[in-house]
Amino acid sequence: MNQLYATFTTVRRSVPFSLRLQLAAWYTIAFAALLLLTGAVFYQYLEHSLEASVDTDLQLRAQQLAGGLVLRNGTLTLRDVTAALPGFGTATQGLGASSADVNQGALVRLLDAHRTLLGETPAFRALRVPAASVTQPLQGSPWQGTVLSTSDQEVRLYSRRLSAQGQSVAVIQVGESLSTLHTLLHQLVAALFVMGFLVLLACAAGSYWLAARSFAPIQRLAETARKIKAGDVHQRVPVPPVRDEVQYLAVTLNEMLDSLDQSFSRQRRFVADASHELRTPVAVIRNKADVALLQPRNQDEYCKVLHDIHAETRRLSHLISDLLALARGDEGQARFERETVRLDQLVESVAANADGLAQERGIRLSVQVPQPVTLIGDEARLIQVIMNLLDNAIRYTNFGGQVQVSLQATSSEAQLVVHDTGIGIAPEHVSHLFERFYRADQARTRTGGSGTGLGLSTVEWIVHMHDGSVGVSSQIGRGSSFTVTLPLLSPTQKT
Ligand code: ADP
Repeated sequence: MNQLYATFTTVRRSVPFSLRLQLAAWYTIAFAALLLLTGAVFYQYLEHSLEASVDTDLQLRAQQLAGGLVLRNGTLTLRDVTAALPGFGTATQGLGASSADVNQGALVRLLDAHRTLLGETPAFRALRVPAASVTQPLQGSPWQGTVLSTSDQEVRLYSRRLSAQGQSVAVIQVGESLSTLHTLLHQLVAALFVMGFLVLLACAAGSYWLAARSFAPIQRLAETARKIKAGDVHQRVPVPPVRDEVQYLAVTLNEMLDSLDQSFSRQRRFVADASHELRTPVAVIRNKADVALLQPRNQDEYCKVLHDIHAETRRLSHLISDLLALARGDEGQARFERETVRLDQLVESVAANADGLAQERGIRLSVQVPQPVTLIGDEARLIQVIMNLLDNAIRYTNFGGQVQVSLQATSSEAQLVVHDTGIGIAPEHVSHLFERFYRADQARTRTGGSGTGLGLSTVEWIVHMHDGSVGVSSQIGRGSSFTVTLPLLSPTQKT
C-alpha cells in the first residue's frame, strides 16, 4: 500500500515536469523537421539556379568562341580571340590526357561536320564525352548535360553546331567543371547544419522556458487543490482574473468542489438522520421492555408489551430495509429485474390490499384502470412505488376523505396518478418532499412521526431507475396528487 502511495506521489509530482519536457521536445522536433524541409528545398533551388547560371555562362562562351572561327578555302580554323585557349590543338599538338586536370584551363573542343577533331584544349581530353553530344547538335539542336572526367569529376558540357549558308560546318563544345560549385554547396550545407543546430538548441531552451511559464499557474492551482483535504471541501481555489484556460480550470475545480461539498453534507445529514431514526424505535423497545420488567405483570399486560415491541420492530425492519435499498442504490449495487409487468394488475392488487386500511380510517378508495398496461421493469419495486404512494395518501387524509388511483397509458408511456383529498402540502415543502428523511412539519405532528421519511425518496429512486419521472401538485387543506410517468418501451437498465 505504502509502495503504491509512493508510486502515485512520484507520478503526481513528476507529471508537470514531464509535460514541460514533452512539450519542449515536440516543439523542437517539429521545428527541426521544418528546418530540414526548408533547408532541403533551399539547397535544391540553389543547386538548380547555380547550374542554370553555369549553363548560361557556357552558352555565352560558346557564342564568343564561335566569333573566332574562320572558314577559308574549306578549312576551318579557330582564332583564339580571348587568348583563353592555351594548348588548343589536336592531340599530337597538345599535352597528353593523363596530365590534364579538368579544373585547370578551359574545356573546349571543335569538330568538323564529319566529327573529325579540329582542335581541343588539353583538359578536354580528360572528359568522357557521349556521342550524342556531337550527333545531336549536327542534327540541329544544341546538347547540354553533365559528363564525367576520367577521374570521375562532374563537368557541365554544352555543344552547339556552327553553320555557314544553312549547312552544319562544325560542332563546338564548351565545358565547365562543377567541382567549385559542389565545394561551395557542401560548405553551405555544413554552415546550414551548424546554424540549424544552434537555432534548434535555442528553440529547445525557449520552448522549455515557454512551457514552464505556461504551466506555472496550473502548477500553483494544483498546489492549492492539493492542500484541500477531504474534510475541507468548503475551501475554494483562487480564480485568476484573466479569461483563459487556467481560469476555466479553476472555475471547473471550484464547481467540482461545490458538488463534492453538497454531496458530503448530504451524506453527513443522511448519516445523522439515519442514526436518529434508528435510535427512536430502539429506545421505544428498550423503554417498553424496561417498564415491563420493573414488576411482575399478568399475561394480558405482557401480551400488550410484546405487541407494542413487535410493532416497533416491524417499523425498524422496514426502516432498515429502506435504508439498505437506498444505500445500495447510491453504491450502484442495486439490481433491477427486467421483466414484463402488467402494471394495471399491480395497481388493482395493491389497492385491494390497502382497501382494508382505508376503510378502517373511513376513507373511500377508488381505482380507475380502464385498460391493460404492460411495461418492462422490476415488479417488486414497482409494487413498492404504488404501495408507498397509496400508504401516504391514506395516512395524510382525514376521516371521510377520498383517495383515487388511476392508470392511463399512451403508446409510449404509462401515467399513474394517486390523488387524495387529504391535508395537502405547503408550497415551501413541496420541493423537498423527495429528500431523504424529509417530512413536512404539519404531517409529522399529525402522524406523530410514524413514517420513516424515506417513502418518497425510494419512490423517486425506483421511478428514475425505470427512466420515468415523478411529480406532485398539492393544495394545503384540499389534497395532493402524485403523478408517476413510466416509459412503456424497454428501459435501459441502470445500476
Ligand atoms: P413518510 O414516511 O414521512 O410519509 P415520505 O417520504 O413518504 O415519508 O413522505 C415525506 C413527507 O411528505 C411526509 O412526511 C409528508 O409530510 C409528506 N407527504 C407525503 N405524501 C403526502 C400526502 N399524500 N399528503 C400530504 N403530505 C404528504
